[in-house]
Order: sequence, then C-alpha cells, then structure tokens
Amino acid sequence: MGPADTGPSESEWARALDALARAERPLLICHVNPDGDALGSMLAVALGLSRLGRPCQASFPGPFTLPPLFDGMPGRELLTPAPEVDPTPDLVVTFDAGNAERLGELAARFFPVADDVVVLDHHASNTFFGTVHLVDAGAAATAVLADELLRRLGVPLDAEIAECLYVGVATDTGSFKYKATTPAVHGLAARLLDTGIQPDVISRRLFDTRPFGALGLFGAALERARLDPTAPGGLVWTYATQDDLARHGQTYDALESLIDIVRTAGEADVACVLKELDTGEWAVSMRSKGDVDVARVAVALGGGGHRYAAGFTGTGTAESVFAQVRAQL
Ligand code: 5GP
Ligand code: MN
Repeated sequence: MGPADTGPSESEWARALDALARAERPLLICHVNPDGDALGSMLAVALGLSRLGRPCQASFPGPFTLPPLFDGMPGRELLTPAPEVDPTPDLVVTFDAGNAERLGELAARFFPVADDVVVLDHHASNTFFGTVHLVDAGAAATAVLADELLRRLGVPLDAEIAECLYVGVATDTGSFKYKATTPAVHGLAARLLDTGIQPDVISRRLFDTRPFGALGLFGAALERARLDPTAPGGLVWTYATQDDLARHGQTYDALESLIDIVRTAGEADVACVLKELDTGEWAVSMRSKGDVDVARVAVALGGGGHRYAAGFTGTGTAESVFAQVRAQL
C-alpha cells in the first residue's frame, strides 16, 4: 500500500473514526520542530475533540519550544510537554509526519502502548508506520485531511479551529502560491474565512514579521549565496551558521524563511539552504520550481519531503554537505 493521490479509502476513514470513538485516552502528536501545518492540523483536531467533550493530549518531540509566530495560535493551551504526557494513551494520532523518526522519542514510547496509531499526513514519502493511514499525497496540507476528519466527526467549524486549519494550509501552500493550491484549497479557505478569521493578521504573523536583527542575518547569508549553473536546471545555495545567529542576536527559527528569498533567483530551478543546528549538524532545506524532484534527493540522503520542498540532516562541512546534494542531482 502506498500514499495514493486519491486519498484514503472509505474503509480507512471508517477505521479511523472507529478508533477515535473507542479511545478513552487519545494522544495527538506532530513532528519535531513543528511548522504551521503540523501544529495547525494537530491543534485543530485537539480543539475539535474538546468541542465534543472528549479529553485528549497534544504534544511533540524534542525541545518544547515554539517560535514566536505561534504565540497567538488557538488551542496552544492544549499542548503538554512530552515528558509530562500520560504514559498510557490507548490511541495515538500523528500529524504531518512522513515517518516515525520525525516523531522522535514519542514513537518508541507510545506506539507499543496504544491500540491504534492513526497517521494523518500528505507526504508522498510516507512509510505507513501506523495501523490506520489517512494519507493523501495529493493534499496540499495535512490540515486538509484534518478538516475532513473534523467534518466526519461532526465538529462544526468555529473561528479557533478555522484559524488552526488556515495556518496549516497557508503554510504548506506558501500562502496559496504553490502548485498544490487547487480550487478545492481555495474552497476550504473560503469556508475558513466565513468563520470571521482575519487572513491579513494571520499572514502577517506567519510570513511578514521578523526581528530587525534577522535582516542582518539574512544579509550575511545572502551575500555568500552561490549560483551553480552547471547543475540540472541551475542551482542556488547558501548556508548560515550558529556563529551568524550569535553575531546577529538571532535564534535558529529566524532561518526558516531564508530559503524563500534564496529561491527567488531566476537562474536556478533548485534552491538549497544549509542551516547549522546547535549540534553542529546541518538542517538542509531544498526547493524546486520545476523538473527536479527534491524529495528524491532528500530521501537518498536520509530525509524526506515533497517533490517541490524537502529536507534532510547532514554532517560535515557546509561544502561537503552541499557536494552530496550536488552529486544527487
Ligand atoms: P523545510 O525545508 O521547510 O524545513 O522542510 C520542507 C519539507 O521537507 C518539510 O515539509 C518536510 O516534509 C521535509 N523535511 C525537512 N527536513 C526533513 C528531515 O530531516 N527529514 C524528513 N523526513 N523530512 C524533512
Ligand atoms: Mn505539511
């Protein structure tokens, strides 16, 4: 079985609803360093279950910190730090994770305990690591699947749930710009806006706000960007180090949107940004505008993602990690 573009079958939806109906202690988890889709889809379902009077816990692995752009996110109060999660969930629902590794220590801790693991995801590289799979590689965001789940659970959309879903869809479509932005995505956005949420405020917070110091940080990283026209389709790449962050008084999350500027280089179909983690490893972000499937590059190097946006973790010097990417192209 693989993640079809047609989405989950009716029997898979039925199995998921059945597992949710039976669960007394459901635990919702999303991938490490949650982005807007991971967090938005998970909190939307957490809020939905609480609207039904169903208690649940929501968490994510690794450091229990969120970048400031999620400060006003509805449902945040439902999050529990991973070490404090009830150790005996009878159901785990995962959000936006293409494989179990993305769930860090939480997979090993809770999968063996739970009766079922329901996987909500939209990565083509999904490894089907649960017992029930709501996986649709054709969905623009995991939030699209979360919306469908809430509809089937009979949860009415309200402004808080809608904001969570909007954050998910807006994040993964690059603010309704990427190819996955189908008429159905706009249809969903219209339903969400009908609840009265403010797209201008949400989008400014998500995409158009950064500390002044980040401008200097981006300046340094952009100045050392290199164009490799010999790569298929052309390739632009750069890196940012822990030293850059310290020099400009910034934290790692400031680097999240650097790739969006680097990829504007019209001479390159593929963009690559290496971000040094505090472990000394590199989180590598890749984007494609055309023929290159960056998910294949990422999977070959131990990561994953989508055709047009993917990543992996690399070790070595920036030059040597970039050379690995270059060799895969
Ligand atoms: P970003 O470049 O925004 O961090 O990630 C883009 C996409 O690549 C994400 O949606 C995620 O699917 C995937 N991705 C990024 N880093 C990793 C990684 O280390 N492992 C896996 N499996 N996927 C990743
Ligand atoms: Mn996603």
